[in-house]
Amino acid sequence: MTRQSAFPAVNQKLCKKCGICIKICPRKVLEPDAGGLPYAACQEKCTACDLCASHCPDFAIEVMPTPDNCLSGNDNKK
Ligand code: SF4
Ligand code: SF4
Repeated sequence: MTRQSAFPAVNQKLCKKCGICIKICPRKVLEPDAGGLPYAACQEKCTACDLCASHCPDFAIEVMPTPDNCLSGNDNKK
């Protein structure tokens, strides 16, 4: 069973690709894509702490609850 399921949604129009959200996430949920845009690589690890959203200087992240439909098979190890 999953714990709380949440999803950090990045607004591509607002994001400046500064990487703050990627660095600050304590769960390593966010990773940069090929273009440097953060995306939820490990969505199932998100605890909805809201750190990423609250530290984004451009208000480009919104943490939203998701249905029980986590991405799987994309577990980056760091
Ligand atoms: S902190 Fe905000 S602007 Fe910076 S990379 Fe993350 S979403 Fe984009
Ligand atoms: S809400 Fe917290 S755990 Fe989820 S992606 Fe943002 S910083 Fe990481």
